[in-house]
Amino acid sequence: MIARVNQRREPWDIIVIGGGATGAGIAVDAASRGYDVLLLEQHDFGKGTSSRSTKLVHGGVRYLEQGNIALVMEALKERGLLRQNAPHLVSNLAFVVPNYDWWEAPFYGLGLKIYNALAGKYGFGSSEILTREETLARLPTIKTEGLRGGVVYYDGQFDDTRLLINLVATAADQGATLVNYARVVALTKGSDGFIDGVVATDQETGQEWTFGARVVINATGAFSDSVRRLAEPDAPALMAPSQGIHLVFHHSFLSAQSAIMVPHTSDGRVMFAIPWHGHTLVGTTDTPISTPTLEPRPLQEEIEFILETASQYLLKPPTRDDVLSVFVGIRPLVKSGDNKLTAALSRDHTIHFDTSGLLTTTGGKWTTYRNMAEHAVDQAADFTGLAERPCVTRSLNIHGFHSHADRFGTLRLYGSDALAIQDLMHATASLAEPLHPELPYTGAEVVWATRHEMARTVEDVLARRTRALFLNARAAEAMATEVARLMARELGWDAAQQAAQVAAFSDLAKGYQI
Ligand SMILES: Cc1cc2nc3c(=O)[nH]c(=O)nc-3n(C[C@H](O)[C@H](O)[C@H](O)COP(=O)(O)OP(=O)(O)OC[C@H]3O[C@@H](n4cnc5c(N)ncnc54)[C@H](O)[C@@H]3O)c2cc1C
Repeated sequence: MIARVNQRREPWDIIVIGGGATGAGIAVDAASRGYDVLLLEQHDFGKGTSSRSTKLVHGGVRYLEQGNIALVMEALKERGLLRQNAPHLVSNLAFVVPNYDWWEAPFYGLGLKIYNALAGKYGFGSSEILTREETLARLPTIKTEGLRGGVVYYDGQFDDTRLLINLVATAADQGATLVNYARVVALTKGSDGFIDGVVATDQETGQEWTFGARVVINATGAFSDSVRRLAEPDAPALMAPSQGIHLVFHHSFLSAQSAIMVPHTSDGRVMFAIPWHGHTLVGTTDTPISTPTLEPRPLQEEIEFILETASQYLLKPPTRDDVLSVFVGIRPLVKSGDNKLTAALSRDHTIHFDTSGLLTTTGGKWTTYRNMAEHAVDQAADFTGLAERPCVTRSLNIHGFHSHADRFGTLRLYGSDALAIQDLMHATASLAEPLHPELPYTGAEVVWATRHEMARTVEDVLARRTRALFLNARAAEAMATEVARLMARELGWDAAQQAAQVAAFSDLAKGYQI
């Protein structure tokens, strides 16, 4: 990728700033239409919010309650398309709403019937009212006192960064150029005053690049305003970010194949307890913040709130000592208000042109990344007069596509790439050994991520190619030395570089422990 950008002389059709769900989705969309695309990510792909979601591909039951039917239908359709195009990454998960009051079963029963009906041919399964016994059979660790029954409905679950890495690969397969550790530090303008390119620095070497583009798309999520202000220092804020945290516990706290959905916590939010990669994931919160950072920290009251809410529903109340990992994401929320420059194509996401011609697309959610990308590329092509070409991503298979990936066991999320990882294990038996007794990850995955998935640091491997850091931060820390040793062989690190990688990761991992 670096060689490609160094050789490039002519301007790109589209430069995308930001390598999260939004940016990678745009790169896939634009490249598969045949446009020339460059994507630049300041850190690793998925370092921002896109690695820190609740891992649900969903229509949003909450929006239904708010009466936003169009939004729910759009997201349910995208949920269906994503399962169709990436069956190795999206699975069907049963969610149970436990009922403790007499009115809850008919109320949620009806609501969730409508939710499923809105999905039409993209449905994941009919909702049903459960007796007390049926609820307990699905959720053996739910609090039984006062439990009347429940309602079960179905939604999608995924691994956010595995999808992201596969989207990066899909974009590359379609001809896009994507570079991680390339930070955009300035936007260049032509004689007409419109943006005509970017200045970026290679975060590994310090090399500075200047790239020309017919249109620049700002897909930096919660960081959108800081990139907009590179061109217009006084641009009024578009974003009103808020953070949400998740706590991860041992599998035994939920001990089920089904998730719990709590429709109304004491602060009026939805909360989930979900089985994910053999662990229990509980979240989330909603706390407005003033300045987004790449490594946001949880507030003590957020941790207490999740522990307290989980304790109301689980037989064994989780405590701070039970937390295996805590991770925090920042919602790229767009301010409400009638900003005249904002062309809201959907209530869910926003496409905004600044007077400099910078196109910012933000808001939305992981589930609707494809739709967002389609709108953004349509607008970019219109704005800059690129030849009109139809979007093809509705039926474009995502890299690794495999309809029966379960046959690959713990490597199922790699889809068709699992075969090549198995080959690495067969060639070198030690690479087949788990790197930690509490997690399934092997040396072969480290080698694969370094050779084929652009992993550049120990963190990239342990946080986003595998999910070790998000599942069990102490176990991840214990794996760092061996991961660094394996990566050193691939990337030619010397002993000092190896030690620095381990030290940096240990520091980071402390922030995921409480
Ligand atoms: C707690 C939480 C839970 C969520 N759960 C779900 C869920 O279950 N399902 C769902 O559908 N959605 C969920 N979402 C929403 C979803 O995660 C986000 O909408 C989505 O990840 C946003 O992606 P993005 O690409 O816009 O932003 P990001 O992922 O933050 O990507 C922006 C990228 O831009 C990069 N960047 C910034 N500045 C520069 C620069 N100068 N140069 C180069 N790169 C730069 C950053 O490093 C970052 O990687 C959740 C969100 C939160 C916060």
